Amino acid sequence: MQKPEYYEKLIRNVPDFPKKGIQFKDITTLIKDPKGLQNAIEDLGSAFKTKKISKVVGIESRGFIFGAGLALKLGVGFVPIRKPGKLPAKTVSMEYSLEYGKDKIEMHEDAISKGEKVLVIDDLLATGGTLQAAAKLVEKLGGVVAGVGCVIELTESLHGRDLLKGYDVVSLVKIPVHE
Ligand code: AMP
Repeated sequence: MQKPEYYEKLIRNVPDFPKKGIQFKDITTLIKDPKGLQNAIEDLGSAFKTKKISKVVGIESRGFIFGAGLALKLGVGFVPIRKPGKLPAKTVSMEYSLEYGKDKIEMHEDAISKGEKVLVIDDLLATGGTLQAAAKLVEKLGGVVAGVGCVIELTESLHGRDLLKGYDVVSLVKIPVHE
């Protein structure tokens, strides 16, 4: 298990992207490191290894990178959650609130079976709105959210974890939102 500082060092902070005041956490520097991606997958994988996960759901687009890696690690299938209009077959959708306005995510309606234990993965937890909507989408199909995982959790003034109460939430590094 790597220490949080290990991950913090490998994540690039890009101030004022995509707009002024946002400290963007860029995981491309972590995943281009020869061991960075592998360690992230190993550590998230061991956090959930006793949970009898049978499917990993990853959120577009950075959640695909870690989610697909975890599915390989856990020896289970991978399911993409995408922005509206991207998935070709019949979908179920979930709307959620953003700071300004609303957003929507979709998943194929046959992606999850009833009672299946699902791990939901994204790169970063900020307000928690995206991961909460993804968890609800899994539950809409009768899946059981056995865990929620991310690499980075933004803390202080953002309370993403509160929105995800009741779920087993694991992050590899916590970083204050303005750092
Ligand atoms: P939220 O729904 O507020 O928890 O936001 C999480 C989603 O927005 C994730 O898919 C992240 O990739 C993205 N995101 C939000 N804030 C940041 C940030 N400061 N740096 C990088 N990605 C972010």
